[in-house]
Parts: sequence; C-alpha cells; structure tokens
Amino acid sequence: MTESDWAVPDWTARAAALDAADPLRAYRDLFVGSEDPSVRAYLDGNSLGRPLRASVERITAFMTQAWGGRLIRGWDEQWFELPITIGDRLAATVLGAAAGQTTIGDSTTVLLYKLARGAIALRPGRNELVLDRDNFPTDRYVLESIAAEHGLTVRWIEPDPRAGVELEQLAEVVGERTALVVLSHVAYRSGYLLDAAAIARRTHEAGALLLLDLCHSVGSVPLELDSWGVDFAVGCTYKYLNGGPGSPAFAYVGRRHLDGFRQPIEGWMGRADPFGMAQGYEPAQGIRRVISGTPPILGMLAMQDTLELIEQVGMDAVRAKSMRLTEFALELVDELLTPLGIELGSPRDPVLRGGHIIIDHPSFAEVTTNLQARGVIPDFRPPHGLRIGLSPLSTSFGEVAVGIQAIRDESTRDEPGSQGRDA
Ligand SMILES: *Cc1c(COP(=O)(O)O)cnc(C)c1O
Repeated sequence: MTESDWAVPDWTARAAALDAADPLRAYRDLFVGSEDPSVRAYLDGNSLGRPLRASVERITAFMTQAWGGRLIRGWDEQWFELPITIGDRLAATVLGAAAGQTTIGDSTTVLLYKLARGAIALRPGRNELVLDRDNFPTDRYVLESIAAEHGLTVRWIEPDPRAGVELEQLAEVVGERTALVVLSHVAYRSGYLLDAAAIARRTHEAGALLLLDLCHSVGSVPLELDSWGVDFAVGCTYKYLNGGPGSPAFAYVGRRHLDGFRQPIEGWMGRADPFGMAQGYEPAQGIRRVISGTPPILGMLAMQDTLELIEQVGMDAVRAKSMRLTEFALELVDELLTPLGIELGSPRDPVLRGGHIIIDHPSFAEVTTNLQARGVIPDFRPPHGLRIGLSPLSTSFGEVAVGIQAIRDESTRDEPGSQGRDA
C-alpha cells in the first residue's frame, strides 16, 4: 500500500464490507423503492420511514376485501377493537409494556395534550410543569398552552444543545410544586438518549409524574416502559415504524393510573358502551377512555407490517445495527467533514445516542437543497443542522458512505483549490 492509499481510505469498500457482514442486510429489500437508483442515500427514515412492500398488499386487501366487502360490518367484526389490539402489539414489540395500556389514534401533538391534561389532573394543588428548551416544538407549544390555560408555571431546563437533559438539571427544577415532567426520550436534534429509568425515579421522588415523547426512540432503541416506571408516553408511528405520512400516534398510560384517568376530549368512542348513545359521559374501562372519536383505521394498516418485522428481528438486533450505523457515520464525519469546519452536534458515546446524528455548518441550508437534487436525502434542522437519520431495517452502510461523501463534495464545491473528488 502506498502512502496515498492510507491518506484516502476507500469508504465505498469499507461500507461494502460492513454491508456484507450485516445480519439485517436482507431486510432492506423488503422496502418499496430500495432499488430506485435515483435515491442514492435516504438519510431521513427517522422523519418519514420507507414503506414496506407488504404494506402495499395489506392496504390493497383492506380496500377490496375489508372495506369494500365487509362495509359497515367491519366495525363490529374488527375495526372497533383495532386501536387496542394494535396498541397491545406495539406495546409488546417495541415499548416493553404489558397489554391494556396502549392505544392508537390522533397525532402525537393531540395525544400530548390529552395525556398531559389528564396527568396534571392527577396532581391537584401542584402548579408547575418541567420542560426543556430543546424539546420538539410541538411539545413546548402544547405544554405552554396548557400552562396558560390553567395558570401553571413552566420551569425550563436549558440543556447542552449537543447533548440533552442531565439528571442533575432535572433535580434542580423538580420539586413539591411539580405536577408533570415532559421530556423526549431521544432528542430530535442532537439524538441524545435519556436514562429514562433514572429520570422516572427522580421525578417520582418529587411526587411528580413523567410523560415521555418517544417519537425518535420507538423502533430504534429498546424500551422498557413498565419496568422503568414511566407514567405516560406518546409517540409517532410514521418515523421508525414506517406507518406512512400522518399515520396515527400511540398513547401509553401506566396501568396504575388508568382507573382515575380522565382526558379532556371526552367523545363517544371513549365512552362506556358507545353504541348505547346515552346521556352524559362515562369513561370506558381501561385505556379505551383515551380514545375520543372514530379511530383512523386506514392509517393503522402499514405500521402492522413493521411490527411484524420487528417481532422477527428483535429490538436488540435493531439497536445493534443502529449503533454500528451511527458509529460508521461518525467515523466518516471525523475523517471527511471535521477538517472542513463542520461540527458534530451529537453525543460521541453510542450509549448516549439514538438512531441519528446531526452536524452543523452555516452552509447547510443550501447544501441540503443541493444534496436533495443529487438523490441524497438528509434533513435540515435550524439554525444550520444537517440531520442524518439511519433507520436500521432500511438503511445500508453503503448509503451512509455515499451520503457523507456527497456532503463533503457539496461542502467543498465552491472553495478555491478544492478537489471535489468523487469516489
Ligand atoms: C416528529 C415528532 C413529533 C410530531 O408530532 P405530530 O403531532 O405527529 O406532528 C412530536 N414530537 C417529537 C419529539 C417528534 O420528533
């Protein structure tokens, strides 16, 4: 090997070797579009997952047989129970939660509102909410609006933007006035992964309740909601669970809270005996009381195919590949991008990060647009972050190498003396 071979590692060959050794490599072919040459690297499966081929069949069969054939009878035969049966399956497969605590419906935003209101009502006399400044916008807006509506005070945690909420930071603001703590398990920007069990313990020591947003962890990081003692959780199904654009979210309410739980949108579908059409609202038994109106059955179809896949593969194997993918991405960032003044905005320790990383540079709004035109699809997050999302079942190491080399090329394009080498 000559010196220049050492200076320019062959990332394409490295990626090919990692793909060849990847026990999950065959699963990528199960996704629609995985063979489409115009998409050279899909690095946004954590924002909108790719569809599974099995979902095309499931949705077609639903239209022709279930909807078209069974018509209104479908509600009695299956659909009425579907939010709960899929909720239980999702709980067992990816949440580490026993049956009877999870339902599907609404969006994450709406469920955040419903569960937060219900949780706060379980802590009467306490008038503070704990939240962090780097939480996803909808979490901040919804909780601020609840605070304004009910005369509560938000106690803000200011995390390191390249990491996330530390236990000591929580300890500083949580106390006897705290009703509810709302945090994201994996931070949408930095990818920081909370120690949820420790956060739950600290929250409970103060007598408060914990609501976790699982949008960026469900389907990428193993979860143990029951044993961690998490009180409430919500999350998306269109990210790592590949449910499709706008697929409904899930809500988890720990069993010990269910009997006394009331949420603010008391509709007929969450009532005891909804078809009795009776006067006055009376909550249904168990998790069904979280439902408000007619559940979005069409939107619940595709997520079942991902759950089926994860049942075969296991979340531990998914997490193991996720860590290898982000590790490889970091290696490429260090070698190819750090010398250009691009900075890592994510934790270096794989134990402290979920399935994505983010890199920062003032040029990234423009770079992201140019990359999209070249079939390399990451996400942009203000002020100038380029987020690289790696969905373990559908992303190859080859895509990581193509994507990060393309970022290098786009970032050196206009610089005088740049070589723009294209491997
Ligand atoms: C994606 C995401 C959401 C999205 O909420 P919607 O109601 O589905 O738009 C909420 N919270 C977090 C942390 C997210 O990453």
